[in-house]
Amino acid sequence: MAGKYASVSGESRVLTGKVDRLLTRLLLAYKGGIFVELIIAANWKMHKTAAETAGFCRALRQFEAGFKGVEVLICPPFTALPAAEAALAGSEIKLGAQNMHWETRGAQTGEIAASMLLEFGVEYVIIGHSERRHLMGEDNTQIQRKIGTALQNGLKPILCVGETETEREQGVTEKVIKKQLSEALDGQDSQKLGSLVLAYEPVWAIGTGKAASAEDADRAAALIRNFLEDKLGSKTAGELRIQYGGSVKADNIGFFVGLPSVQGALVGGASLEVDSFSALVQAARKAVIS
Ligand code: PEP
Repeated sequence: MAGKYASVSGESRVLTGKVDRLLTRLLLAYKGGIFVELIIAANWKMHKTAAETAGFCRALRQFEAGFKGVEVLICPPFTALPAAEAALAGSEIKLGAQNMHWETRGAQTGEIAASMLLEFGVEYVIIGHSERRHLMGEDNTQIQRKIGTALQNGLKPILCVGETETEREQGVTEKVIKKQLSEALDGQDSQKLGSLVLAYEPVWAIGTGKAASAEDADRAAALIRNFLEDKLGSKTAGELRIQYGGSVKADNIGFFVGLPSVQGALVGGASLEVDSFSALVQAARKAVIS
């Protein structure tokens, strides 16, 4: 919220900002008996140079006052992270990365380590996106290691799970999601899992313009929530946020964040233009308030 409190002293600006954020949080996020903040992440995949990223971030900041109570993050390509960090300095819009290696250094040509992301202010890291699973052959064992390294290094993982179209047609959606969750979370430090975000992304809905129905999204998110409750207990699991991802836009986001088990979205295509992304975040906020 840079600039909003510019006319008051530094100390009162900090205090006013804190009270304001607290009130917004209470107003926006009372869902399912607990307070949670919506989280909307822009996954840019292999789009945007550093210069384009800087321009986007500067333009997005003009809309930031309308994002209150929604945690918004941008996940640009690695090469654009420094530009994004600079353009977002002083803003509440956060940075995420799209992937990370499980090793912290070494002979891993073409890979990136947690410390390299932290150096540019990255807070979140997407792990196990379906494009990495299906195009790059990433498996649950690798994903489990990546989650462990992210947690140990203070990065918040956004773990993506979801079934392919064939798996859906075969009626094995639940089985697939449970396997992805149990293998990715196996052996993780439960003390650290409070920072985990889950993204339910049916593969057939990603980039196709064919979003999941409310019933499908709610059923999968509830399955994830139940799995987490069994593993972590209802208090920790109740505080974790589950995003829906797959052809989310400003005109359908309200529909997903209104579901009891969904607290945000992972957005690809609609996050690439400032107008469509800011409209989407504002629509999400409005849907939760009303
Ligand atoms: C994604 O990349 O995670 C995604 C959900 O893409 P899209 O919004 O374009 O379907």
